Order: sequence, then structure tokens, then C-alpha cells
Amino acid sequence: MAGAHTHDDTVSMTDAAKISECSPYDVVVIGAGPVGENVADRARAAGLSAAVVESELVGGECSYWACMPSKALLRPVVARADARRVPGLSAAVQGPLDVEAVLAHRDEETSHWKDDGQVAWLESVGADVYRGTGRLTGPRAVTVTAPDGTEHRLAARHAVAVCTGSRAVVPALPGIEEAHPWTSREATSAKEAPGRLVIVGGGVVGVEMATVWQALGSEVTLLIRGSGLLPKMEPFAGELIADALTEAGARIRTGVSVTAVQRPAPDGPVTVVLDDGDRVEADEILFATGRAPRTDDLGLEKIGLEPGSWLTVDDSCRVEGTDWLYAVGDVNHRALLTHQGKYQARIAGAAIAARTGHGPVETTPWGAHAATADHAAVPQVVFTDPEAASVGLTLAEAERAGHRVRAVDHDLASVAGSGLYADGYRGRARMIVDLDREVLLGVTFVGPGIGELLHSATVAVVGEVPIDRLWHAVPAYPTISEVWLRLLETYRR
Ligand SMILES: Cc1cc2nc3c(=O)[nH]c(=O)nc-3n(C[C@H](O)[C@H](O)[C@H](O)COP(=O)(O)OP(=O)(O)OC[C@H]3O[C@@H](n4cnc5c(N)ncnc54)[C@H](O)[C@@H]3O)c2cc1C
Repeated sequence: MAGAHTHDDTVSMTDAAKISECSPYDVVVIGAGPVGENVADRARAAGLSAAVVESELVGGECSYWACMPSKALLRPVVARADARRVPGLSAAVQGPLDVEAVLAHRDEETSHWKDDGQVAWLESVGADVYRGTGRLTGPRAVTVTAPDGTEHRLAARHAVAVCTGSRAVVPALPGIEEAHPWTSREATSAKEAPGRLVIVGGGVVGVEMATVWQALGSEVTLLIRGSGLLPKMEPFAGELIADALTEAGARIRTGVSVTAVQRPAPDGPVTVVLDDGDRVEADEILFATGRAPRTDDLGLEKIGLEPGSWLTVDDSCRVEGTDWLYAVGDVNHRALLTHQGKYQARIAGAAIAARTGHGPVETTPWGAHAATADHAAVPQVVFTDPEAASVGLTLAEAERAGHRVRAVDHDLASVAGSGLYADGYRGRARMIVDLDREVLLGVTFVGPGIGELLHSATVAVVGEVPIDRLWHAVPAYPTISEVWLRLLETYRR
């Protein structure tokens, strides 16, 4: 079994001598984001030895430039908005946010961009951490180039798991390099609020960052190509969030594309040129325009795969056409979310263990060895004001998939619990019923405080709970969860 040891940026002579040999492991994981960490943990739990290679910070995008900092920034914004809607409390919370304290809390939540805690956790499960860039050099073979140029060769007896995640895509527009645009990394780690911030893109990152920076004092302009925000959710999600952002003072322009950006002086403003000829001036511009796989410098060409491509996998997260290569998390493009990637990590770990005789054998394709929830039961919460949360299929997706469905809607304002939660509560719920089987294919909630409701819907969708049984899942009075009762009554009416 591999013993735990730390690999510092500075490698001692003794270490260098040791690692120049080829080190064998049962499983080699490239990328120590939340997903890579969990693959290693599952491998170790099954009694397999595991090496984990990380080129930046153990903990990955999620811990330092994505989930954790964004949610730390959003929490005070949303809590203040909630408090301002509670009679008797609102007068006490009319003041501005303490921006310095909000940013300091964000810094705490990201451990000041230091990964000692996460390295210690990986070591505590018995995985070896190698600092450096991992590249495939052939089947089951990985070379790690450490920051000082030293090379370590790792040989995987059973499996290599690529967990290298994704990076932000910035479009190749004229003037883009001189404009020094923000990506999600700068937007989640900025040390102060820019005076004017243009955000390009109306997906989850765009709306969450618009919510944060508008509340922290920036004048935010959101530029979107399509007609509404959050195009992957039910249309009412984007509409309600657009109303709230506009009320908070943000400008939203739909149906526009950026054709060029200009920042003539490095410290001066940036001018954003639009396809309708208009120009918008700002202090910073954030591109929230999608993600690309981090596979361009991974040695994929050495094993006959296309560098820079998303890695297509089966439900056990094994790359098609191989019996040793797994791709888990963002890099396989199934569902770019931490919880879904960690779910895949548990599945892939169980599959590797089973295939090497270290775990329960594979039984059914829908059991512990198949990430079936990726297909039509992915939960997601957008932590804006109001929150938007969905699981499974939207009405449009269900219809496109050929299901015979009915969308059942309910106004969340008419539920007793929501009136108590906030004065003037605004929100909506929709469930998509499969009329042939009378089970739910999807559920969407939009409204303050509904993020915590989502798991009830996930259980109903994944468990394929018949509508007749859902009648007996009685929501407590007076909670917002009573919307379940109203949705079922509306369906039966
Ligand atoms: C702004 C923002 C907010 C988000 N908020 C949420 C949220 O609230 N909830 C949620 O579920 N998801 C959220 N996500 C998505 C989430 O961050 C990702 O789904 C998650 O980080 C994916 O985990 P991963 O381990 O696959 O990849 P990553 O977290 O990207 O980790 C990959 C790791 O691999 C390393 N690596 C890459 N190439 C190599 C190499 N060749 N050698 C060695 N190491 C390498 C990287 O340095 C990195 O540490 C958010 C994303 C963004 C951008």
C-alpha cells in the first residue's frame, strides 16, 4: 500500500532521487479537484493504492474560484434581501453591506487560496500527492512535470482517472487580449468592486456574479445574446431573476452580441462594442460564456485521443474504447456541477474496485456502478435572489424527448409558508408529470429560500415515486414545502 507523503514545490535531493524511478500505483488520478479527491478516496477505501497529481491547488476550481467563493459572496447579499422582506426586521437592515467584511469572509472560505487542509485530507485517506502537471505518455503511464522541471513517472496497474475539470472560454474577439477580461476566476477572487462591470452571458455564472457585484456596489450591465436569462431552465426562472436584478439596479440587454472590446490604456476603462453599433463603457468586463475541457496539454494524442476534446465516457465513467482510462467530473461534459462530479467519482471508484476484484461485482447497469442520474435527474441550485432550483427535465426537454407530459404550475405566493417567510413573496413552482406512468420527470422552484426544497423533488424524480404515493408525503404546516400539496391538487383537479 502506498504511504502518505507530501511533495513540496521545492524537491530535496533525496526526494529527486526517489521519484526519478517509476512509481507503480493501482490507480493514478490526474487533477485533485473535488472529483479527483473523491476518486482517490474511493480507490483507497477499496484497498487500492492511489497517486493524485495536481498542477495548481488541491481542491480544484470549486474550492478556490467557483462554488465556495461565489456562495460566500452571495450569502450576505441574499440574507440581506430576505431580511428586508420581513416586517419588523427590514428597518434594521436598510444599510449597505460591509464590502470589506464580505470579501474577508470569502477569503476565509477559500482558505486564502492555500490548500494545506485539503492536502492533509488526501494524505489522511492514504493517497500520495504529486505536485505538477500530469500527462499521459502511453496506456496506464503518466509523467508528472513538477514546478522545478523534475519528472516523475507513474505507472497505473489498473486505472488512470482524468479529473482535470474545465476552464472558462473567452471568445477570440478583436482587442480581447489588451482588454484583460475577467473570467469566473477574477470575478470570484476580486479584491474590490469595480465601479462599472459589464457581464457577457446570462447563464448561472453570469446571473450569480451580477447579483453579487451589483449588491457590493458595482453598476452592472448584463449583455446576453438570447432573449432571457438561464436558458437551460424553465423560462419563468430567468424572468423572475431578471425582474429582481433590474429592481436591484442592474441593466439587462437581451439580443446583443459583443463584436469587439477596446482598452487603449491598461489602467483605463474598457469599451464594449455591440453588434447593433452601440458601445458600453465599463471598468471591468467579465466573460461568462461557457467552459472548455482541460485536456489540451494532457498527452491525449499519445493514446489516440483528440487533445482539447471533452472525453466521452460510459455510465461507469470509463472512456469508450479503453479498459483502463476513466474521465470523471467536468472533463466528461455530462453535468458540470461539483455534486454530480462527486457522484460520478463514487461510481467510478466502485467500478474500478469491482473490475480489479476489490469491491462488490457489477450487477445491474443501474446499480452502484452506473451514473444513471446524469441522464435526467441532475439537481442544480442558482443562489440568486430569488433562488432558482431544478431537477430533471424542463417542459421543453420532456417534449423534445418524446414524453407525453403535463406541466403543473403553482404560484408560490399563495402558500402559507411563503407569506410568513417574506412579505410580498414572489415565486413559482412547476412539476412535469409523465402522463403515461404518473411519475415526475422534472421539478423547478423559483423563489426566496427554495434551494433547500430541491432535494424533496430530487427524491421524487430519482425514486420515480408515483403521484398517488406523493399524496401521502405530507408537508409540514406552515412551510413553503406545502407547495407540493398545491401542485398535486392542481394536477388532480
Ligand atoms: C463561478 C462558478 C461557480 C460554481 N458554483 C457551483 C456550485 O455552487 N455548485 C456546484 O455544484 N458547482 C458549481 N460550479 C461548477 C464546479 O466548480 C465544477 O463542476 C467542479 O469544480 C468540477 O470539479 P472537477 O474536479 O471535475 O474539476 P476542477 O474543480 O476544475 O478541478 C480540476 C483540477 O485538475 C487540475 N488539473 C488540470 N489539468 C491538470 C494536469 N494536466 N495535471 C495535474 N492537474 C491538473 C486543476 O488544477 C484542478 O485543480 C461552479 C463553477 C463556476 C465557474
